[in-house]
This record gives sequence, structure tokens and C-alpha cells, in this order.
Amino acid sequence: MNFCPRCGTSLISRPEGGRPRPMCPVEGCGFTYYGDASIGTGAVVTRGDEVLLIERRVPGRTWWQIPGGFVEVDELIHDAIEREVLEETGVVARAVDVVGFRHAAGVPDRPVANIYVVFRLLAEGGSPRPDLEETFDVQFVHRDRLADWPGVAALSLWAIDAALTAPAGLTIEAARDGLQRPGHTIFRLPGA
Ligand SMILES: [Zn+2]
Repeated sequence: MNFCPRCGTSLISRPEGGRPRPMCPVEGCGFTYYGDASIGTGAVVTRGDEVLLIERRVPGRTWWQIPGGFVEVDELIHDAIEREVLEETGVVARAVDVVGFRHAAGVPDRPVANIYVVFRLLAEGGSPRPDLEETFDVQFVHRDRLADWPGVAALSLWAIDAALTAPAGLTIEAARDGLQRPGHTIFRLPGA
């Protein structure tokens, strides 16, 4: 990053927090570049004893996984996962709780950090169909058949196992004066 995204001034390098960082020299702007990050979300959608799987294809490779995608910067994450499930599968599902997440630190050839948050969702309607852009088949698979289902991504199997065995995950904290700012959602352990 060479120019300040707030005011357009050329950034300079200054040490902060133990390493040099691009910073805006304009007094009163104060922009500091800490690097790039993205947020993804995945969905373990259940319908009784079945779990929703999608088939993805890229040239030379086909595999199955749970649906999901990137969260827009101005989007609530629990809205994003319901949107992704509907777009990719045609299934209307309601986000219930958070099963877990994966954090991926940036690496030299891909210096973007990523957090992938897995939600548990309950199917409420719609009819499974692929979008034929990102998904090429959509199936509710009985949990007893998952072990023999060919080509399911390891992270998806991990997420499904966690979602089917954990009694409860993180849920959305109730709105309270002074706690959440606009656009904030707080997830907390259940109970109390
Ligand atoms: Zn600036």
C-alpha cells in the first residue's frame, strides 16, 4: 500500500508495535496500515438427521463441502451465512449458533489473514438446487452416510462432526445499552 486510503497522501514507513508499518504523515489523519484480512463463513445446515452438502468444481478437481462464502464488509455475519446458503443451495435456513472457527495467518505468498466462522443452521424451507456457478450439486446427506460420501473436504467433516456432537455453541448476546455499537454483534457462550 503506497497511498493513504483516507486522504491520498503518500505513506511513510514508521516503527510501531515492533515492526515498520506504512503510515500517513498527515497530522489529524493518522491512518496506519496493519495488513489485509478477510472473513469467511461456513454452514452446517441440518434437517433432522441430514446435513447439507454442496459439490464444487474447478478445472481438474471436484469435491464436496459445506456451503459458505465471504462476508461483505458491511454485512452482519449471521446474515451472510443465511444469504450464502440460500444463494448456493436454494435452502432457507436459520443460523442458530457458532460451532467454531479457523484462523489462518498470512503467509509470504498470500499475506492475507483469514477467519472462517462455522455456524450451525436449521433448514426451514426452500428446495435444494445448485446455482451452477459455485455449486454443481446439492444434497441433504444422512449423517450415517457421511463417512462413505466421496471427496468431502476435511474441514467440512470437522465442522459437521463438531456441529452434530456439541450440545450448544456461541449465541448472539442480547442488545444492551452501551455494549454494542451500530453494526456490532457479540457472540457468547450459552447460559447465564
Ligand atoms: Zn491520511
